[in-house]
Amino acid sequence: MLVVLKQGATQAEIDAVCDKVRDLGYTPHPMPGSMRVAIGITGNQGSLDPAQFGHFPQVAEAVPISKPWKLVSREVKTEDTTIELRGPRGDVARIGGGSFVVMAGPCAVEGREQLFASADAVARAGARVLRGGAFKPRTSPYSFQGLKEEGLALLSEARERTGLPVVTEIVDPRDLEAIERSADMLQVGARNMQNFALLEAVGSSRKPVLLKRGMSAKVDELLMAAEYICKNGNYNVVLCERGIRTFETLTRNTLDLGSIPVIQQMTHLPIIVDPSHGTGHRAAVPALARAAVAMGADGLMVEVHPNPVEALSDGPQSLTPASFQKLMVSLEAIADVVGTRL
Ligand code: PEP
Ligand code: MN
Repeated sequence: MLVVLKQGATQAEIDAVCDKVRDLGYTPHPMPGSMRVAIGITGNQGSLDPAQFGHFPQVAEAVPISKPWKLVSREVKTEDTTIELRGPRGDVARIGGGSFVVMAGPCAVEGREQLFASADAVARAGARVLRGGAFKPRTSPYSFQGLKEEGLALLSEARERTGLPVVTEIVDPRDLEAIERSADMLQVGARNMQNFALLEAVGSSRKPVLLKRGMSAKVDELLMAAEYICKNGNYNVVLCERGIRTFETLTRNTLDLGSIPVIQQMTHLPIIVDPSHGTGHRAAVPALARAAVAMGADGLMVEVHPNPVEALSDGPQSLTPASFQKLMVSLEAIADVVGTRL
């Protein structure tokens, strides 16, 4: 159910409707927009009677939401969600609502020298967010699992050094507080898209979340995973298309660029593209990155390693600093054509 308030409703009037929702035993989710405030209601089993809100003069209408995903849907919020990440020097990376953000850095934090070389290079080339995994969910338990707490400390150093906000992956809810201290954004990886305990945990955090599409997840399952996070009160979710598993094995994954315009119609949340995991091949990354800009995605996540041949994870898909720099120049040309800003 969505309760739409009349234009100009005061905070006290909004609060009164929220109180009523709580009295009924449900959870109110106020969604401010430039034209109106709407209040999404969750926690009800079955449909609610709109007449329960009819006596509030500030209520314009109370309408059921037809989709199973509610808070993330355009039915609840028509305007694009914009999320801001603030770096240590006050620089703001905006995600959604017409700006284009590039997040870049190594797949995994491997050490100070490697991280700083990657971080300096991506900052110099114009990336707005630094990525790097400290906790790595690897297919094999014998592969490098990440530097963990030591990796977080290095990310904090790189954050100070470059001024860039940091996004890093969380794989275990028990690491939430430590990661919150070092990172500006929490990444939920493809392998954990339906790890509901993890979704609930990041939903209770005040840090924005980057939610990657599971490798076998349909778009509606991605939206339902985002709904878990929003339902817990964290509405700052960015979706990420990172390729899905198909019958094609020549590429690591099949980057489902066709999902982007569909997702943008269904949800107000921003969606970015990861062409690195999306193809698995360094040579294919620039073309897919340019395609993502051209089709109106809200940003990119790109893996960059100072020496990809020696990388402890995802070397074959990592760009060198020089090729990343070249890519950024070509992205700007496309951004100009489609009227977005890098
Ligand atoms: C990553 O971004 O480092 C990663 C592990 O990606 P994904 O979860 O998309 O496989
Ligand atoms: Mn990777």
